Amino acid sequence: MKAVVTLNSGSSSIKFALFDLDHGRHLALSAGGKIERIGIAPRLEIHSGDGALLSRHEWPDQSEHTHDELLAWLFDWIGTHLEGREVIAVGHRVVHGGTDFARPCLVDDIVLGELERLCPLAPLHQPHNLAAIRTIARLVPDLAQIACFDTAFHHDRPALTTRFAIPRELHDQGIRRYGFHGLSYDYIARRLAELDPQMAAGRVIVAHLGNGASLCAMAGGKSLDTSMGFTALDGLMMGTRSGTIDPGVILYLQNETGMSAQDVEHMLYHRSGLLGVSGISSDMRTLTESSAPEAAEAIDLFVWRAAREAAALAASLGGVDGIVFTAGIGENDANVRSRICRRLDWLGVEVNEIANAANDPVISLPSSRVKVRVIPTDEEHMIALHTLAILFGGTA
Ligand code: ADP
Repeated sequence: MKAVVTLNSGSSSIKFALFDLDHGRHLALSAGGKIERIGIAPRLEIHSGDGALLSRHEWPDQSEHTHDELLAWLFDWIGTHLEGREVIAVGHRVVHGGTDFARPCLVDDIVLGELERLCPLAPLHQPHNLAAIRTIARLVPDLAQIACFDTAFHHDRPALTTRFAIPRELHDQGIRRYGFHGLSYDYIARRLAELDPQMAAGRVIVAHLGNGASLCAMAGGKSLDTSMGFTALDGLMMGTRSGTIDPGVILYLQNETGMSAQDVEHMLYHRSGLLGVSGISSDMRTLTESSAPEAAEAIDLFVWRAAREAAALAASLGGVDGIVFTAGIGENDANVRSRICRRLDWLGVEVNEIANAANDPVISLPSSRVKVRVIPTDEEHMIALHTLAILFGGTA
């Protein structure tokens, strides 16, 4: 049987999935897992498609285990667990496709060079994504590798929503709003079209609320606007990222307090968001369980900022017919969902608190002008679908 591997290689984690390819291009998850805490004391867990634990491993000595070595370990594990399967391609999540990469594509040396040039636009993600491609090329030289971009879903949206109000030449140099989480939004747009074609045809705000968080305004399943901009730092408050901030704060910190550009970058990406405001944790579950007033304030701010950005996207859409919650917080945290929805009641959102508490697929009341759904996202599945489309033609 043929199989496809998906990889999402980040700064401190590598997520992977192995999909079997049944007849007629049907994908079935056979294994998936994550190596976390790379650079500290890496640990790995792999589960089968039906959730059984297949492997758990820890590497206590940090210095020995680079991304490169851990990926080699993972491919070794895959190799010994193939049981007659043949891996025909690896699909990668690549954060930035810039202005040129509007669709997933097969990676060769020329493409890799072009993607390399985009590293300054996503310095914390892109280099790790590309390093994984290079590692696989070294380990299995002839294996097809497909890059799937987080920016691509937003590529064809109205040009106006890609602009910052800065001099034209800077826009022309690529300083523009790209938008991210596109693989998740692509998946949600397709699932919504299957589950509820009427809602999918309308004006929908999708809230991807995980460690990274953003919103996407979709009209008829296409991105029209999104809360993230030039980098994955913009928009909502996140686990450790600030989201939108007055750029004057950054100027002040650098000009008046002696913080270096690197200090500011570290503060905005790693010490802000839920962690920065609570002083306790970047993890929503931990904050929910805490009785500290700072934890409550961090959650209040997260909710308010999400509702405020949603209202901005409602203006972009000219009204809202539906809202979809997804990702770790969006799929699981009924309290956060309810509080965001209640702040949007003036848009016609009426939450069914019982359905919401039960994490039901539809959490709005029948009388609600805006239908609210919870849909689990699956970026790995989306990568695998794109990978097949590149290999065998057609659309994903
Ligand atoms: P990533 O961006 O790393 O993929 P996830 O989508 O896994 O992030 O989301 C992680 C966030 O989801 C964390 O803040 C975590 O606390 C939160 N989360 C996960 N499960 C729950 C839950 N049952 N209740 C509340 N929050 C949850």
